Amino acid sequence: MSGSRALYEQVILDHNKNPRNFKVIEDADRKIEGFNPLCGDHFTVFLKLDGTTISDIGIQGAGCAIAKSSASIMSSILKGKSVDEAKELFDRFHAMVTSAPDAPLDEAALGKLAVFSGVREYPIRIKCATLAWHALLAALQGENQQVSTE
Ligand code: ZN
Repeated sequence: MSGSRALYEQVILDHNKNPRNFKVIEDADRKIEGFNPLCGDHFTVFLKLDGTTISDIGIQGAGCAIAKSSASIMSSILKGKSVDEAKELFDRFHAMVTSAPDAPLDEAALGKLAVFSGVREYPIRIKCATLAWHALLAALQGENQQVSTE
């Protein structure tokens, strides 16, 4: 196990224990529920938009450590980002978690998202890691319903 791998696990455990932005936004512009029936992860994403900028994100729900910490990290990264930047980050994140376990990591481009690189060895966890992101993207596309990873 490499040094960064141990550090990554620490970050995931920290966000699982103390998730960021876990709050209801009463006057959210968008609100969507994401469900991963495979694992039982269930999160609601609340968004406040200021033009094309994500001005605030709230998360509610419950799930495994991967799903919860991913929702938490997503919310802390995307606050203040534009909708286009959010989509680009998701593409980068999705490409990373679905790449081969030994594929090189572009840690500079991934930033904090690199902590989920261990997910590549556990394909069943990919849906946990990407659930909040799928909900976010659906919300950005104007959908106000439930999204499921299945
Ligand atoms: Zn899960």
